[in-house]
Amino acid sequence: MTQSFRITLLPGDGIGPEIMAVTVEVMNQVGSQLDLEFNFQEALMGGVAIDATGTPLPADTLETCRQSDAVLLAAIGGYKWDALPRHQRPETGLLALRAGLGLFANLRPATILPQLVEASSLKREVVEGVDIMVVRELTGGIYFGEPKGIFETETGEKRGVSTMAYKDSEIDRIGRVAFATAQKRQGRLCSVDKANVLEVSQLWRDRITALAADYGDVELSHLYVDNAAMQLVRWPKQFDTIVTGNLFGDILSDAAAMLTGSIGMLPSASLGADGPGVFEPVHGSAPDIAGQDQANPLAQILSAAMMLRYGLNQPVAADKIEAAVNQVLDQGYRTGDIMAEGMTGVGCRGMGDAILKALA
Ligand code: NAD
Repeated sequence: MTQSFRITLLPGDGIGPEIMAVTVEVMNQVGSQLDLEFNFQEALMGGVAIDATGTPLPADTLETCRQSDAVLLAAIGGYKWDALPRHQRPETGLLALRAGLGLFANLRPATILPQLVEASSLKREVVEGVDIMVVRELTGGIYFGEPKGIFETETGEKRGVSTMAYKDSEIDRIGRVAFATAQKRQGRLCSVDKANVLEVSQLWRDRITALAADYGDVELSHLYVDNAAMQLVRWPKQFDTIVTGNLFGDILSDAAAMLTGSIGMLPSASLGADGPGVFEPVHGSAPDIAGQDQANPLAQILSAAMMLRYGLNQPVAADKIEAAVNQVLDQGYRTGDIMAEGMTGVGCRGMGDAILKALA
C-alpha cells in the first residue's frame, strides 16, 4: 500500500531553489521505487518572503508547516536583506520557525565520507571512519535563561548577565531524543557537561544518568566539555552520539562539522516533541554562487535522507539516498567546493542527474 506524506518545502534564497529542485527529483525517484508518495507544498520564507509580504516567516507559511509531516528547508538570507532591522531579517524567520514548531532538539551529523578524507584539515588516520551525531538542546540553557541583560551596579559599573538554567523536563526531553538517536546508530551516547563546576550541569548529569535505565541497549558515558573539545580533535572516532546543552552544543557541533572539511556536505535536523521537524543543510544561501549551477546539492539531498530517517521513519529510503551519494562520490563526481585532482567536475544539476542515475 502506498504511504503518503505531506512535506512543506521552503526553498528560500540564493542557491536554495537550485538545490531544492534537485532534491525533490531525488525524493520522487526514491518514492516511486518504495511506494512512498510525497505531496510537496512550497511556501515562502526568508528574503523572498520579505520581498513578497514584508515578513521573513508569514503566518500562512508557519501554518502550512504545522499541517505537514515534515519541513524541508534550503537556506535563507543574502546581501540584499543584510541591512534591514533585526525583526525583518531572514534569520529572524528561522528563529520564529523553531519557536513556532517547538523544535528543541538539533541533530547534526559529522560523517567523514571515505572519498573526501583529504578535505579534512586533520590527518587521514585521525578522521577516516568518523561518524558522529551531535544532539544539541536548542531552546533552553544560557541563550534563553533569566535573568539576562546588562545592568548597572551600585558603583555605576556595568554588569552583563546571562543565566544557564535547565529544568528536569527540558533535560529529560532532549535526553530521550538523544537515547533514541543512539539506538538508531551504534548505541553509544556521550553526554557532555561541566558538572565539576556548574550546578546546572550537575542536574543535567543526574537526569541523563537516570534516563539510562529506560535504554538498556545504549551505553552511556559522560565528559566535561573541555575534555570533549580535546577528544573531538584528538581521536574523534571514539564518539558515536553526543548529547549536550545549547551553548556547548553550538560550539562542539561546529567543531565536529569542521572535521569533515566540506560545508556543502552537511545536513541537519531540528525536532520537537511531536509535530513536524525541520531538515536543512548546515550551509547558508551562498549568494556568491547563486543562479550559476555551481552549488553542491548533496547537503540538501542528505537533509532529505535525514528527514526520511528521523522525521518520517523511513530508514530504507534514507539508506538508499545515502548509498547513492556514496556511489556518485566513488564514481568521481565533484562540485567545485569538493573538487580534487583527477575527479569529474559537475554543477548542481549534473550532480543531481548522477544521483538519479545511481538510484536507478
Ligand atoms: P554560506 O554557507 O552561505 O557560504 C559560505 C561559503 O561556502 C561561500 O563561499 C559559499 O559559496 C560556500 N558554500 C556554501 N554552501 C555551498 C554549497 N552547497 N555548495 C557550494 N558552495 C557552498 O555562508 P555565508 O556566506 O556566511 O552566508 C551567506 C548568507 O547565508 C547570509 O545571508 C547568511 O545570513 C545566510 N545563512 C543562512 C543560513 C541558513 O539558512 N540556515 C545559515 C548560514 C548563513
